[in-house]
Amino acid sequence: MKWGLIGASTIASEHMIGAIRAQSGHTVEAVLSSDAARGQDFATRNGIPHAFSNLEALLEHPGISAVYISTTNEKHVSQAMAAFAAGKHVLCEKPLALSVDDAAMMVEAAKGAGLVFATNHHLRCSGAHLAIRQMIARGRLGRVLSMRVFHAVSLPEHLRGWRIDNAAAGGGVIADITVHDADTVRFHLGEDPKTVVAQAVSSGLGRGVEDSVMSVWTMPSGIMVQSHESFTHPYAGSGIEIHGTEGSLFAQGVMTQRPTGTITMTDRDGTLQLNYDRHDLYGYGLKAFSQAIAGRGRPAADGVDGLKSLAVALAVARSAREGQAVDVDYKGY
Ligand code: NDP
Repeated sequence: MKWGLIGASTIASEHMIGAIRAQSGHTVEAVLSSDAARGQDFATRNGIPHAFSNLEALLEHPGISAVYISTTNEKHVSQAMAAFAAGKHVLCEKPLALSVDDAAMMVEAAKGAGLVFATNHHLRCSGAHLAIRQMIARGRLGRVLSMRVFHAVSLPEHLRGWRIDNAAAGGGVIADITVHDADTVRFHLGEDPKTVVAQAVSSGLGRGVEDSVMSVWTMPSGIMVQSHESFTHPYAGSGIEIHGTEGSLFAQGVMTQRPTGTITMTDRDGTLQLNYDRHDLYGYGLKAFSQAIAGRGRPAADGVDGLKSLAVALAVARSAREGQAVDVDYKGY
Protein backbone atom coordinates (compact mmCIF):
# COMPACT_ATOMS: atom_id res chain seq x y z
CA MET A 1 0.00 0.00 0.00
CA LYS A 2 1.39 3.39 -0.98
CA TRP A 3 0.92 6.21 1.52
CA GLY A 4 0.88 9.95 1.08
CA LEU A 5 1.76 12.03 4.13
CA ILE A 6 -0.22 15.24 4.47
CA GLY A 7 1.97 17.31 6.79
CA ALA A 8 5.74 17.43 7.30
CA SER A 9 5.29 16.96 11.02
CA THR A 10 7.21 15.79 14.06
CA ILE A 11 4.84 12.88 14.76
CA ALA A 12 5.28 11.66 11.18
CA SER A 13 9.07 11.67 11.39
CA GLU A 14 9.35 10.44 14.99
CA HIS A 15 6.76 7.65 14.87
CA MET A 16 4.53 7.18 11.86
CA ILE A 17 6.98 6.81 8.95
CA GLY A 18 8.76 3.99 10.78
CA ALA A 19 5.47 2.39 11.80
CA ILE A 20 4.15 2.52 8.20
CA ARG A 21 7.36 0.98 6.86
CA ALA A 22 7.16 -1.77 9.48
CA GLN A 23 3.91 -2.98 7.84
CA SER A 24 4.55 -5.58 5.19
CA GLY A 25 4.10 -4.09 1.69
CA HIS A 26 3.57 -0.50 2.89
CA THR A 27 5.66 2.36 1.53
CA VAL A 28 5.71 6.12 2.06
CA GLU A 29 5.46 7.57 -1.42
CA ALA A 30 5.06 11.32 -0.95
CA VAL A 31 4.81 14.13 1.56
CA LEU A 32 2.88 17.40 1.42
CA SER A 33 4.18 20.58 3.04
CA SER A 34 2.85 24.10 2.66
CA ASP A 35 6.50 25.14 2.22
CA ALA A 36 8.22 23.55 -0.80
CA ALA A 37 11.73 23.79 0.67
CA ARG A 38 10.68 22.33 4.05
CA GLY A 39 8.81 19.56 2.27
CA GLN A 40 11.81 18.65 0.11
CA ASP A 41 14.10 18.73 3.14
CA PHE A 42 11.66 16.49 5.06
CA ALA A 43 11.48 14.08 2.11
CA THR A 44 15.26 13.90 1.82
CA ARG A 45 15.78 13.38 5.56
CA ASN A 46 13.16 10.63 5.67
CA GLY A 47 13.93 8.92 2.35
CA ILE A 48 10.55 9.78 0.77
CA PRO A 49 10.64 9.81 -3.06
CA HIS A 50 8.28 12.76 -3.72
CA ALA A 51 7.50 16.10 -2.04
CA PHE A 52 4.55 18.29 -2.98
CA SER A 53 3.34 21.69 -1.85
CA ASN A 54 -0.02 21.28 -3.56
CA LEU A 55 -2.58 18.88 -2.06
CA GLU A 56 -4.22 18.03 -5.39
CA ALA A 57 -0.84 17.03 -6.84
CA LEU A 58 -0.24 14.62 -3.96
CA LEU A 59 -3.74 13.19 -4.23
CA GLU A 60 -3.32 12.70 -8.00
CA HIS A 61 0.04 11.01 -7.63
CA PRO A 62 -0.25 7.48 -9.07
CA GLY A 63 -0.70 4.58 -6.72
CA ILE A 64 -1.42 6.38 -3.44
CA SER A 65 -4.38 4.70 -1.78
CA ALA A 66 -4.17 6.06 1.77
CA VAL A 67 -3.14 9.33 3.38
CA TYR A 68 -1.99 10.14 6.90
CA ILE A 69 -2.97 13.68 7.97
CA SER A 70 -0.77 15.25 10.65
CA THR A 71 -0.90 18.95 9.94
CA THR A 72 -1.97 21.47 12.58
CA ASN A 73 -5.50 20.83 13.76
CA GLU A 74 -7.39 23.51 11.81
CA LYS A 75 -6.27 21.97 8.50
CA HIS A 76 -7.46 18.41 9.09
CA VAL A 77 -11.04 18.90 7.90
CA SER A 78 -10.37 20.46 4.48
CA GLN A 79 -7.50 18.05 3.77
CA ALA A 80 -9.56 14.99 4.77
CA MET A 81 -12.52 16.14 2.66
CA ALA A 82 -10.23 16.56 -0.37
CA ALA A 83 -8.74 13.11 0.26
CA PHE A 84 -12.17 11.46 0.46
CA ALA A 85 -13.23 13.24 -2.73
CA ALA A 86 -10.11 11.79 -4.38
CA GLY A 87 -11.01 8.27 -3.18
CA LYS A 88 -8.30 7.89 -0.52
CA HIS A 89 -8.59 6.09 2.79
CA VAL A 90 -7.70 8.48 5.63
CA LEU A 91 -5.86 8.04 8.90
CA CYS A 92 -6.21 11.44 10.57
CA GLU A 93 -4.59 12.87 13.63
CA LYS A 94 -6.59 13.96 16.62
CA PRO A 95 -8.41 16.19 17.17
CA LEU A 96 -10.19 15.44 13.89
CA ALA A 97 -11.36 19.04 13.59
CA LEU A 98 -12.13 22.14 15.64
CA SER A 99 -15.88 21.48 15.75
CA VAL A 100 -18.07 18.38 16.05
CA ASP A 101 -20.03 19.50 12.96
CA ASP A 102 -16.82 19.39 10.90
CA ALA A 103 -15.94 15.97 12.30
CA ALA A 104 -19.44 14.76 11.39
CA MET A 105 -18.97 16.05 7.84
CA MET A 106 -15.76 13.99 7.60
CA VAL A 107 -17.48 10.87 8.95
CA GLU A 108 -20.32 11.23 6.44
CA ALA A 109 -17.95 11.89 3.52
CA ALA A 110 -15.99 8.71 4.29
CA LYS A 111 -19.19 6.71 4.64
CA GLY A 112 -20.64 8.10 1.40
CA ALA A 113 -17.46 7.25 -0.50
CA GLY A 114 -17.09 3.78 1.08
CA LEU A 115 -13.63 4.65 2.43
CA VAL A 116 -11.93 3.74 5.70
CA PHE A 117 -11.58 6.66 8.09
CA ALA A 118 -9.55 6.27 11.28
CA THR A 119 -8.41 8.54 14.09
CA ASN A 120 -4.86 8.13 15.39
CA HIS A 121 -5.78 7.57 19.04
CA HIS A 122 -2.72 5.50 19.84
CA LEU A 123 -3.38 4.84 23.54
CA ARG A 124 -6.14 2.30 22.88
CA CYS A 125 -3.55 0.44 20.76
CA SER A 126 -1.12 -0.05 23.66
CA GLY A 127 -0.63 -3.46 25.23
CA ALA A 128 -1.10 -1.88 28.66
CA HIS A 129 -4.50 -0.42 27.81
CA LEU A 130 -5.61 -3.59 26.01
CA ALA A 131 -4.74 -5.60 29.15
CA ILE A 132 -6.57 -3.15 31.41
CA ARG A 133 -9.63 -3.23 29.23
CA GLN A 134 -9.64 -7.01 29.30
CA MET A 135 -9.53 -7.00 33.12
CA ILE A 136 -12.55 -4.70 33.23
CA ALA A 137 -14.47 -6.67 30.59
CA ARG A 138 -13.83 -9.93 32.45
CA GLY A 139 -15.37 -8.39 35.56
CA ARG A 140 -12.16 -8.61 37.61
CA LEU A 141 -12.88 -5.21 39.17
CA GLY A 142 -16.52 -6.01 39.86
CA ARG A 143 -18.79 -3.07 39.15
CA VAL A 144 -16.67 -0.08 38.12
CA LEU A 145 -17.25 2.92 40.37
CA SER A 146 -14.72 5.50 39.28
CA MET A 147 -11.75 6.25 37.08
CA ARG A 148 -8.92 8.76 37.46
CA VAL A 149 -6.75 9.90 34.57
CA PHE A 150 -3.55 11.78 35.36
CA HIS A 151 -1.88 13.07 32.24
CA ALA A 152 0.01 16.15 33.34
CA VAL A 153 3.35 16.22 31.53
CA SER A 154 6.06 18.67 30.58
CA LEU A 155 5.54 19.57 26.92
CA PRO A 156 8.89 18.87 25.21
CA GLU A 157 10.73 22.01 24.07
CA HIS A 158 10.55 21.06 20.37
CA LEU A 159 6.73 20.83 20.51
CA ARG A 160 6.23 24.27 22.07
CA GLY A 161 5.18 25.98 18.83
CA TRP A 162 1.51 26.36 17.84
CA ARG A 163 0.38 24.19 20.78
CA ILE A 164 1.12 26.90 23.35
CA ASP A 165 0.15 30.11 21.55
CA ASN A 166 -2.10 29.50 18.55
CA ALA A 167 -5.77 29.01 19.35
CA ALA A 168 -6.69 29.26 15.65
CA ALA A 169 -4.47 26.24 14.88
CA GLY A 170 -6.19 24.27 17.63
CA GLY A 171 -3.54 24.85 20.31
CA GLY A 172 -4.01 24.27 24.04
CA VAL A 173 -3.81 21.23 26.25
CA ILE A 174 -7.50 20.32 25.90
CA ALA A 175 -7.26 19.81 22.13
CA ASP A 176 -3.90 18.12 22.56
CA ILE A 177 -4.30 15.76 25.53
CA THR A 178 -7.86 15.82 26.90
CA VAL A 179 -9.02 14.49 23.55
CA HIS A 180 -6.76 11.41 24.00
CA ASP A 181 -7.99 10.91 27.56
CA ALA A 182 -11.60 11.09 26.41
CA ASP A 183 -10.89 8.33 23.93
CA THR A 184 -9.12 6.23 26.57
CA VAL A 185 -11.99 6.57 29.04
CA ARG A 186 -14.53 5.61 26.34
CA PHE A 187 -12.33 2.65 25.38
CA HIS A 188 -12.13 1.28 28.91
CA LEU A 189 -15.63 1.99 30.14
CA GLY A 190 -17.49 1.31 26.88
CA GLU A 191 -19.74 4.34 27.30
CA ASP A 192 -19.65 8.02 26.40
CA PRO A 193 -19.30 10.82 28.97
CA LYS A 194 -22.62 12.57 29.47
CA THR A 195 -21.85 15.73 31.43
CA VAL A 196 -18.57 17.48 32.28
CA VAL A 197 -17.47 20.15 34.75
CA ALA A 198 -14.05 21.73 34.21
CA GLN A 199 -11.59 24.41 35.21
CA ALA A 200 -8.63 25.44 33.07
CA VAL A 201 -5.72 27.83 33.54
CA SER A 202 -2.74 29.26 31.74
CA SER A 203 -0.07 28.69 34.33
CA GLY A 204 2.97 30.14 32.62
CA LEU A 205 3.44 28.25 29.36
CA GLY A 206 0.22 28.87 27.42
CA ARG A 207 -0.25 32.26 25.74
CA GLY A 208 -3.86 32.75 24.71
CA VAL A 209 -4.56 29.04 25.27
CA GLU A 210 -4.92 26.95 28.43
CA ASP A 211 -1.92 24.84 29.50
CA SER A 212 -3.63 22.94 32.34
CA VAL A 213 -7.13 21.60 32.93
CA MET A 214 -8.94 19.50 35.49
CA SER A 215 -12.39 18.06 34.90
CA VAL A 216 -14.99 15.67 36.26
CA TRP A 217 -17.15 13.65 33.90
CA THR A 218 -20.38 11.79 34.62
CA MET A 219 -20.96 8.60 32.65
CA PRO A 220 -24.48 7.38 31.77
CA SER A 221 -24.01 4.39 34.13
CA GLY A 222 -23.12 6.73 37.00
CA ILE A 223 -19.37 5.94 36.96
CA MET A 224 -17.45 9.08 37.95
CA VAL A 225 -14.34 10.11 36.02
CA GLN A 226 -11.71 12.62 37.06
CA SER A 227 -9.20 13.87 34.49
CA HIS A 228 -6.12 16.11 34.68
CA GLU A 229 -4.09 17.29 31.69
CA SER A 230 -1.21 19.73 31.66
CA PHE A 231 1.83 20.86 29.67
CA THR A 232 3.66 22.16 32.74
CA HIS A 233 4.36 19.20 35.07
CA PRO A 234 7.90 17.83 34.72
CA TYR A 235 7.72 15.15 37.41
CA ALA A 236 4.05 14.19 37.80
CA GLY A 237 4.11 11.08 35.60
CA SER A 238 1.05 9.80 33.80
CA GLY A 239 -1.42 7.01 34.30
CA ILE A 240 -4.89 5.84 35.14
CA GLU A 241 -6.60 4.29 38.12
CA ILE A 242 -9.83 2.35 37.83
CA HIS A 243 -11.71 1.39 40.97
CA GLY A 244 -14.44 -1.22 41.24
CA THR A 245 -16.38 -3.03 43.92
CA GLU A 246 -14.02 -6.05 43.74
CA GLY A 247 -10.67 -4.49 42.93
CA SER A 248 -8.61 -1.49 41.84
CA LEU A 249 -6.19 -1.14 38.94
CA PHE A 250 -3.24 1.26 39.15
CA ALA A 251 -1.46 1.88 35.84
CA GLN A 252 1.54 4.19 35.91
CA GLY A 253 3.46 5.61 32.99
CA VAL A 254 0.97 4.28 30.46
CA MET A 255 -0.26 7.53 28.85
CA THR A 256 2.73 7.71 26.51
CA GLN A 257 3.72 7.09 22.93
CA ARG A 258 5.88 4.12 23.86
CA PRO A 259 4.99 0.67 25.27
CA THR A 260 6.07 1.49 28.80
CA GLY A 261 4.58 1.58 32.29
CA THR A 262 3.45 -0.76 35.04
CA ILE A 263 0.01 -2.07 35.96
CA THR A 264 -0.86 -3.38 39.41
CA MET A 265 -4.14 -4.81 40.58
CA THR A 266 -5.25 -4.84 44.22
CA ASP A 267 -8.14 -6.95 45.46
CA ARG A 268 -9.04 -9.12 48.44
CA ASP A 269 -6.17 -11.50 47.60
CA GLY A 270 -3.51 -8.77 47.66
CA THR A 271 -1.57 -6.93 44.97
CA LEU A 272 -0.13 -8.33 41.77
CA GLN A 273 1.64 -6.86 38.78
CA LEU A 274 0.16 -7.50 35.32
CA ASN A 275 2.23 -8.52 32.30
CA TYR A 276 1.24 -7.15 28.92
CA ASP A 277 2.40 -7.18 25.31
CA ARG A 278 4.86 -4.36 24.57
CA HIS A 279 4.25 -3.88 20.84
CA ASP A 280 4.56 -0.55 19.01
CA LEU A 281 1.35 1.44 19.53
CA TYR A 282 1.29 3.12 16.13
CA GLY A 283 2.13 -0.10 14.28
CA TYR A 284 -0.83 -1.80 15.97
CA GLY A 285 -3.15 1.00 14.79
CA LEU A 286 -1.76 0.85 11.24
CA LYS A 287 -2.30 -2.90 11.09
CA ALA A 288 -5.94 -2.52 12.11
CA PHE A 289 -6.33 0.28 9.55
CA SER A 290 -4.96 -1.77 6.65
CA GLN A 291 -6.99 -4.81 7.68
CA ALA A 292 -10.11 -2.63 7.67
CA ILE A 293 -9.25 -1.55 4.12
CA ALA A 294 -8.98 -5.24 3.22
CA GLY A 295 -12.48 -5.75 4.63
CA ARG A 296 -11.34 -7.41 7.86
CA GLY A 297 -12.53 -5.67 11.00
CA ARG A 298 -12.51 -1.98 11.82
CA PRO A 299 -9.85 0.60 12.63
CA ALA A 300 -8.65 0.72 16.25
CA ALA A 301 -10.36 4.13 16.54
CA ASP A 302 -12.65 5.10 13.67
CA GLY A 303 -14.02 8.48 12.63
CA VAL A 304 -16.92 8.28 15.06
CA ASP A 305 -14.47 7.59 17.91
CA GLY A 306 -12.55 10.69 16.85
CA LEU A 307 -15.78 12.70 16.69
CA LYS A 308 -16.77 11.60 20.19
CA SER A 309 -13.39 12.31 21.80
CA LEU A 310 -13.52 15.75 20.18
CA ALA A 311 -17.05 16.32 21.50
CA VAL A 312 -15.88 15.56 25.06
CA ALA A 313 -12.85 17.84 24.73
CA LEU A 314 -14.99 20.69 23.37
CA ALA A 315 -17.45 20.25 26.25
CA VAL A 316 -14.54 20.43 28.72
CA ALA A 317 -13.32 23.64 27.05
CA ARG A 318 -16.79 25.16 27.14
CA SER A 319 -17.35 24.20 30.76
CA ALA A 320 -14.04 25.80 31.75
CA ARG A 321 -14.96 28.95 29.82
CA GLU A 322 -18.51 29.27 31.13
CA GLY A 323 -17.98 27.99 34.68
CA GLN A 324 -20.86 25.54 34.55
CA ALA A 325 -21.66 21.91 33.84
CA VAL A 326 -21.98 21.11 30.12
CA ASP A 327 -23.74 18.16 28.47
CA VAL A 328 -21.58 16.62 25.75
CA ASP A 329 -23.16 17.09 22.33
CA TYR A 330 -22.37 14.12 20.08
CA LYS A 331 -24.69 15.47 17.36
CA GLY A 332 -26.68 12.27 17.32
CA TYR A 333 -23.69 9.89 16.89
P1 NDP B 1 4.37 19.79 14.12
O1 NDP B 1 4.37 21.16 14.69
O2 NDP B 1 5.66 19.03 14.12
O3 NDP B 1 3.84 19.80 12.62
C1 NDP B 1 2.61 20.41 12.29
C2 NDP B 1 2.79 21.28 11.06
O4 NDP B 1 3.67 22.34 11.40
C3 NDP B 1 3.43 20.54 9.91
O5 NDP B 1 2.42 19.98 9.12
C4 NDP B 1 4.24 21.62 9.21
O6 NDP B 1 3.50 22.22 8.15
C5 NDP B 1 4.45 22.69 10.26
N1 NDP B 1 5.88 22.74 10.60
C6 NDP B 1 6.66 21.72 10.98
N2 NDP B 1 7.92 22.15 11.21
C7 NDP B 1 7.90 23.46 10.96
C8 NDP B 1 8.88 24.48 11.00
N3 NDP B 1 10.16 24.21 11.34
N4 NDP B 1 8.52 25.73 10.71
C9 NDP B 1 7.24 26.02 10.38
N5 NDP B 1 6.27 25.09 10.31
C10 NDP B 1 6.60 23.83 10.60
O7 NDP B 1 3.20 19.00 14.85
P2 NDP B 1 3.12 17.60 15.56
O8 NDP B 1 3.77 16.54 14.80
O9 NDP B 1 3.54 17.76 16.95
O10 NDP B 1 1.52 17.40 15.50
C11 NDP B 1 0.85 17.27 14.27
C12 NDP B 1 -0.53 16.66 14.48
O11 NDP B 1 -0.40 15.38 15.07
C13 NDP B 1 -1.46 17.45 15.39
O12 NDP B 1 -2.77 17.30 14.92
C14 NDP B 1 -1.33 16.74 16.73
O13 NDP B 1 -2.48 16.88 17.53
C15 NDP B 1 -1.11 15.31 16.29
N6 NDP B 1 -0.30 14.51 17.21
C16 NDP B 1 -0.77 13.27 17.56
C17 NDP B 1 -0.05 12.43 18.35
C18 NDP B 1 -0.55 11.05 18.64
O14 NDP B 1 0.13 10.32 19.35
N7 NDP B 1 -1.65 10.64 18.09
C19 NDP B 1 1.23 12.86 18.93
C20 NDP B 1 1.66 14.16 18.47
C21 NDP B 1 0.91 14.93 17.63
P3 NDP B 1 3.69 21.71 6.64
O15 NDP B 1 3.17 20.31 6.65
O16 NDP B 1 2.84 22.65 5.87
O17 NDP B 1 5.15 21.76 6.36
